[in-house]
Amino acid sequence: MERTELDDATRSVHPPVSEPEGSTPLGAPLHLDHQFAFATAEALAGAFNGPDAAPLYGRYSNPTVRSLEHALADLERGAAATAYASGMGAINAVITALVGSGDHVITQRALYGGTHALFTDLEKRWGVQVDRVSGDDPEEVWALLRPNTRLLYLETIANPTTRVSDVPALAAVAREAGVPTAVDNTFATPLLFRPLDHGADIALHSTSKYLGGHGDAIGGAAVFADRGLHRRVWEHGVELGACASPFNAWLTLRGLRTLALRVPRHSANAAAIARRLADHPAVRSVAHPDLPDHPDRDRASRLLASGGGVLSFDLRGGRAAGAAFTEALQVASLAPSLGDVKTLAMAPASTSHHRLTAAELEAASITEGTVRIAVGIEDPDDLWADIERALAAV
Ligand SMILES: *Cc1c(COP(=O)(O)O)cnc(C)c1O
Repeated sequence: MERTELDDATRSVHPPVSEPEGSTPLGAPLHLDHQFAFATAEALAGAFNGPDAAPLYGRYSNPTVRSLEHALADLERGAAATAYASGMGAINAVITALVGSGDHVITQRALYGGTHALFTDLEKRWGVQVDRVSGDDPEEVWALLRPNTRLLYLETIANPTTRVSDVPALAAVAREAGVPTAVDNTFATPLLFRPLDHGADIALHSTSKYLGGHGDAIGGAAVFADRGLHRRVWEHGVELGACASPFNAWLTLRGLRTLALRVPRHSANAAAIARRLADHPAVRSVAHPDLPDHPDRDRASRLLASGGGVLSFDLRGGRAAGAAFTEALQVASLAPSLGDVKTLAMAPASTSHHRLTAAELEAASITEGTVRIAVGIEDPDDLWADIERALAAV
């Protein structure tokens, strides 16, 4: 129809849309649309076909989200990726796509809290069999493999202990048994470690952390070495509905541009703070992969480009000291999460884990006086002055 024939009601719903002509935007365009139109019924039908088909509906794909997926697959050296609404969305999509009732999973004892809760729930309500290993010993995985083992699930750097798993050795055992390995690589980022280069099949991320980097875009992603596995998990994800928001994907893409500047700075700042904490009389012990006395020091220096931005330490004064220390910080914030350009600190025993008994805390490798600091990219001397002042208040 000619535009001149149209009524205002139709004109206002269908305004002319302009695309750039004669130049190209330097960043990925932000397409908020969650529905896409097709010229033919056949083209529309084809768009239902898989993760690489034309954008169809936001839960299937979106061009801005796809730009993020391509960026993350590129950084992790994977074949394909899917972005999700959150890290837990990605973790849920992968685990529940690959594991069903009566299946068996091998995972680590030290896991991100949300992932630990998911496995516990799958065990209790879905009859999934879950075995937990230390992350150190491939023999342990060998001994636990069963005909119905469907997944080996690991984390590169554990929270808050900063223990480093032997991903290459454990993934090699799973590979020999035909079992896929998924690795939560959130703490490391692909700049410190690339799980797919070390025999894993899936690298998982909470992009809410270092990849986005600015604490303003919750999101997650799964990167796959193999397109077949990518497709299987994608199909399940369409049912699950934990799809990434285009705006958050766009913010994450913007954050990614400075990843290679931020990550080494996070690591260097955290290592500097960890060394100074280790000499402080109020501190019983410090954990950071770059410290010479870290239990996985050799493995960390072999596998990781640097130790990452998260450290934890034990205050001699227990729970009260942890609370007093985090409340006295002025540059750093008393806040959960990590991977932000700003330094964030919390004492799990008095905050996220306040309902746990001393025995339960110990089982989670957390003491009453444990403090976790997700070190930001501020000036390290300013950060240390803040920490020293807060330690004096303990
Ligand atoms: C934060 C985090 C998650 C969960 O990610 P969300 O984006 O908060 O859902 C999973 N794993 C690790 C290691 C994390 O730090």
